[in-house]
Amino acid sequence: MTAFELSALAIAALLAGFAFGRSRRPQARSEPVGSADERLSWALWGSGDGFWTWDIKSDELKSAGAETVLGFAREITVSGREWRDRFVHRDDIDRVGGALDQHVRGETEHFEAEYRLRDAKNSWVWIRARGRVVTRDPDGTPRTLAGIYRIAEQERADEAWRRTSEAVIRHMLEGVAVTDTSYHFVSANPAFLKLTGYANEELLAQPTMILDSSQHSAQFYQDVRRELEGRGAWSGEMWQRRRSGDDFLAWLQIAEVLNSEGKRTNFVAVIADVTDRKRAEHRLRYLAHYDALTGLPNRAFLRHRLRQRIESGGSTRFALAFLDLDRFKHINDSLGHAAGDELLRQAARRLTHVVGNKENIARFGGDEFTVMITGDVNSEVVENLCAEILDAFAGPLMVDGQEVAISPSIGIAYYPDQGRSIDDLLRNADAAMYDAKARGRNTYRVYSARLAEDASDRTRMESALRKSLDRDELRLVYQPKLSLRSGRITGAEALLRWRSAELGHVPPSKFIPMAEETGLILQLGEWALRQALSQARAWKDSGLPEIRIAVNVSSVQLTRGGYAEMVKNVLENMALSPGWLEIELTESALMVDPKRASATIADLRSLGVKVAIDDFGTGYSSLSYLRGLAIDTVKIDKSFVDGIEHNVDDEVLTSTIVLMAHSLGLSVVAEGVETEQQLRFLRGENCDEVQGYWLARPLEADACRTFVFDYRMPRGLVLAGS
Ligand code: C2E
Ligand code: MG
Ligand code: MG
Repeated sequence: MTAFELSALAIAALLAGFAFGRSRRPQARSEPVGSADERLSWALWGSGDGFWTWDIKSDELKSAGAETVLGFAREITVSGREWRDRFVHRDDIDRVGGALDQHVRGETEHFEAEYRLRDAKNSWVWIRARGRVVTRDPDGTPRTLAGIYRIAEQERADEAWRRTSEAVIRHMLEGVAVTDTSYHFVSANPAFLKLTGYANEELLAQPTMILDSSQHSAQFYQDVRRELEGRGAWSGEMWQRRRSGDDFLAWLQIAEVLNSEGKRTNFVAVIADVTDRKRAEHRLRYLAHYDALTGLPNRAFLRHRLRQRIESGGSTRFALAFLDLDRFKHINDSLGHAAGDELLRQAARRLTHVVGNKENIARFGGDEFTVMITGDVNSEVVENLCAEILDAFAGPLMVDGQEVAISPSIGIAYYPDQGRSIDDLLRNADAAMYDAKARGRNTYRVYSARLAEDASDRTRMESALRKSLDRDELRLVYQPKLSLRSGRITGAEALLRWRSAELGHVPPSKFIPMAEETGLILQLGEWALRQALSQARAWKDSGLPEIRIAVNVSSVQLTRGGYAEMVKNVLENMALSPGWLEIELTESALMVDPKRASATIADLRSLGVKVAIDDFGTGYSSLSYLRGLAIDTVKIDKSFVDGIEHNVDDEVLTSTIVLMAHSLGLSVVAEGVETEQQLRFLRGENCDEVQGYWLARPLEADACRTFVFDYRMPRGLVLAGS
């Protein structure tokens, strides 16, 4: 037997947990010593062996112990012929006879044979018989043979097992290799060779080191060896290098082989390539833990991470930022889901870019993301990161070849002060996020206990807002605009007011964002347009000269499409000339879906309706971008006007906007003009119109009508030359 076969046997036994050579323990007996015959039969009984003699001359065969071995009632005596005809299997006769003859002729030291014998139950049992010539005639001719026999099933089973295990090892999918105790290959099965890419002759006598991969440190392999030396066994995953230089992840079981004295002679290794399995496992784990669209950890994984964090970190502070993309639903509805998906992917990319470690981000669902902020978390660090995230979204995203603006609103909650459990933490970060939305979006808010009340306030407000139209709780007020060229009131902006039965007066800054978030703005916006134009109709009927009524439009209405069509219908219904209407839309509304916005603007313009960009300067659109749009007016945001007389930068910006707008053929309105100084500055910069408390607060319809009729510009403020 080769070393391989020997070791193979050992490992086969190891693998199958099969201990061969079931021990046959002689039963200890302590009876008084009897006759020689008795002693013999006891000994035989104890050992399970039988004893036979064959007298050649008389051809008489005696078998003692037949009761033990073959189940006969007592010992049997038969003639040689009878033995052959009745007891020995036909297929074995020649072999047994041949071996006997050989021995009798003096050609062998012993007679030894294995053959089938009929037992007391008439079934065949394999027995192994051994014996030799014990007496001879004076001339040396053999006269008597004697020997023992025993059931050979065990030996045969062992033999069969040996052959089977060799075949198994040879055909096993796992690689099996045997090394000596200094880790040099002694043998390997075909699977092992196939796995490692070596030919048998290339591998033999080589150190196992040739399979070491650089994916582990040298220390790792040393540790494995140290463990083998100590415990005699090692199992685990190990990267191995093929002959080609490729690495594969192996599942390895290494065990020592001991000789009969218990001394270690070899190691046997069973090796399986688990790279694919690992890959599949990894893929499964990935699918379970990561979001397929963005590749970010998903909600389940976030919860897992949070749990881990809370369990291992004790009360170590960390922050959870909850981020929601503003008005995403409407972009998704208007651009289509494929574009929506692309937008989410890009948003995820921006977020990852800022946060750095993808593992700390998660896509919580829909357009919601979370960021876990750990380490040295003071509020400055956390809020700086949130500010960076907002900055990262300042520029538009390219989706389907067009620019789309999207801003996030972020809520922050700290563990453990603002939530000891995962659910509390998430709920509070979410509440803070809603607060950020309520404060005009594109901002972050830190959770405070007050927000919990706000959350229920919000729910109350939403249900109240849904009823507001039916309950007739909405009205419009009108804030006049003054032309600095003519000194006349040229228009008025229609502004929504809501007096709720339950909540009292709610400012637009509170209910407009909520209406946009819930989609209610579609109804509210349409109502405002109809209401403003029916007011215009009434004013016209009462003899008021044509002024422009400015109606604010939300991005949600623009992205929905069909807006210009609706405007056209309402104008026709009221039989009003389009000169009565102006549409105000904010820069950010434009950028949500620039393609559709510019199409809508073009449609409105072709109806003869004027279009103004509201809150100009607070977004990031440039004037040259506006050049491509068919707009008429820009409204300089109140925040710049506020800076006049205080802030040189604001003054410079204001005059630049006026200059550039004029060079593009646009007229300029300054909003929120509160003081005469502001007015004088604006007049000096050639601003076209002003709106603000200096001129008038938003007025009830009747008061506005009177205001328009009666207005006279204070002397000394009229522009020279107009
Ligand atoms: P906006 O379109 O920029 O409207 C101008 C806001 O500035 C109005 O606030 C107005 O009352 C206020 N304002 C005007 N002059 C002054 C001033 O001199 N000083 C100060 N401090 N404020 C001044 P309001 O009415 O609270 O509306 C806030 C915003 O709500 C509006 O900003 C507009 O974006 C939105 N909004 C109002 N009505 C509607 C509407 O019918 N539809 C839509 N989509 N949005 C509306
Ligand atoms: Mg406005
Ligand atoms: Mg404005």
